[in-house]
This record gives sequence, C-alpha cells and structure tokens, in this order.
Amino acid sequence: MISSPDWVRLSFGADMVLGFSPGQFLKGALNTTINLLQYYPDGCKANCIYCGQAREVAKGPECKTLIRVEWPLRKLDDVLSRIKEREGNPEYGLQRICVGQLAHPRASPDAIEITRRIREHGIELQISELVTATYTFKKHMIEMRNAGADMIDVAIDAASKRVFDAVRGKTVRSMHSWDRYIQAIDEAVEVFGKMNAGIHLIIGLGETEKEAVELMQYAHNRGAKISLFAFYPEYGTPLGNKKPVPLNVYRRTQIARWLIENDIVDINSFKFDEKGRIIDIDIPADISLEELAPAFMTSGCPGCNRPYSNEKPGSRLKNIPWYPTKNQVISSIRAAEIDNLAKRFLN
Ligand code: SF4
Repeated sequence: MISSPDWVRLSFGADMVLGFSPGQFLKGALNTTINLLQYYPDGCKANCIYCGQAREVAKGPECKTLIRVEWPLRKLDDVLSRIKEREGNPEYGLQRICVGQLAHPRASPDAIEITRRIREHGIELQISELVTATYTFKKHMIEMRNAGADMIDVAIDAASKRVFDAVRGKTVRSMHSWDRYIQAIDEAVEVFGKMNAGIHLIIGLGETEKEAVELMQYAHNRGAKISLFAFYPEYGTPLGNKKPVPLNVYRRTQIARWLIENDIVDINSFKFDEKGRIIDIDIPADISLEELAPAFMTSGCPGCNRPYSNEKPGSRLKNIPWYPTKNQVISSIRAAEIDNLAKRFLN
C-alpha cells in the first residue's frame, strides 16, 4: 500500500534540491531543510480551515497543496538515498530534515519509524519532528528522541484559545484541543530540553498582536523556541479568500519574537493600543540596527530557512531566508510602522 512510513510527500523545494523535480529558487536561495510530510490514503483526520490537507478540503489523499505548492509523493528509501548523496556537499547546503505529521492515528509511530530509517541510512543531518499534539504524547516524543531526532516543534499555529477554537477546534468540526497543545509544549521541552523544543505560530489567523506576543512570552517562559509563519491563503480552503497578513503586522511580530526570544525585553516593554496592536516597544539603548537584523530572517530550528513559503516569489519576503542586507533591515524596520523605532534606527 502506498502510505507512510514507506512513502512521504516532499516539499516542492526539497523535491528540487534532491533532483526529483527540475528548477531552482529565485535569487539562488538554498532550501537548507528537507521537509517530509506523511501520506495516508485516508488523508488527514482534522479540519483546520486554513490548511489544504484538511479533511473537508482534501476529501481524500489526492490533495494536494500545502503552503500553495504541490508536495510530490516519493518513496522514502529513494529520498534518503539522495539525501545521503548530497549531505555535506556545500552546493546543496543541507542542514536539517523535518519529519512533518498529518493528524492521523499512525502519525507518531510512523514519524518514529521515518526517523529511525533516516539514521539507518547513515544520515547525520539534524532531525526535527513537527508534531500534532492530538496524536503525539510524551511517550512518543521520548521514542522520537531515542530514534535520533534532535528537535521538536508543536504546531499550535494559533495564538490564543479563541483563535484556535475558531480555526482548528470543535467550531470547525475539528478535534484539536488548545489545552492538549499547551500541555504538549511542556512535554516537548521536558523530553528534548529547553530551546530544542518549540512552537509553530502563524500570524494572520485572526489573532491580535497582543495575543501573539502573549503566546510567544508564554512559550519562551516554558523554554520553547518560536517558529513564526505568515498567513497566506490556501486556495480552496474556507480561509482561501482571507487576505495575507499585512507586512506591517508581520514585521512587528518578528521584532517582538526576536526581542523576547533573546531575553532583551519581556511583554512589559510592549505598548498596545485598544485593538491589541503594538504601538511602541521599550528597547534598550545599546541595541544596534545590525543586531536587530536576524529578527527578519526565517525563525525556527537552526538551518530551516523555508524560502518563499510565506509569500509569492517576487513579492516582499516576509521570512528572509538568508542574512538580510542593511537595506532589507532598514526597509523592514520602516515597514513595522512603529514611530519610536523608526526615529531611533532610521535617522
Ligand atoms: S522550524 Fe522548520 S525544521 Fe523546525 S519543525 Fe518547523 S518546519 Fe520543521
């Protein structure tokens, strides 16, 4: 049967890097993480309304897009052989493999098996597990680590219980529970250690910036790192007509993440307006423009740069997949539309 763990979907970028599909990224961006996604003939059991894999969108396994591109189905053995050939070659720059789950009863045992097979192939790249907390419990996390995984992210996606319930909970005929995801953050940190565990947070699902900052501060206090994503509508989903998150909102959230994660400020240094928008941040006087630059890069596990996964190639990059130029930093700070920051860094 064509199914995980013997078969996986590959992100389109990874498919190109491994030579299954021809092509390369705009501006020569390297895709430094190989993202694998599980495949099941009966599809994903959840119904998150922003996701192309959702039960009521995909209507079976033949679906199709995630972050707006096809994820070609490949044999795991073939994928691992090609990774092994390219590992260590600077032309490819591979740094990490990410084992991504669907919400499926087989998700955890199969993620463990895929991880084991990666190591059996003698591949030494770092391995991340991207887990759905509904089907992944502490015992699975321990097995993932024992099989050779280095890091884990809990894909909570939504910034608050309010948003979570509206986009991936009972309200939308899905079975995920906010409380379970919050619990899984602690389990992930306990098993993998502080900053080897994290959360995926999508900005633009209907949260306020204050809610996003609160979740980031919470995750940081619990020892979890933060991988930020910018919402971009997925064709054919209930949120398919929702606008992408505005650049100014995303830039403010990126700055907040960087400041919190690096212990430069905490939530008390933020001022929000009545709509929960960040209007000022009290940043220490000795932080320079150069130091702020990584705030605008893709965040998450080291080496996971996800080029063009949050916007169309050619538009303004929301997650910059390389170290930003000075001009990119200046335009990113300007785009954040925080008066005091603009005065401080751009004059
Ligand atoms: S940050 Fe990248 S490597 Fe880490 S879990 Fe997320 S997608 Fe996977």
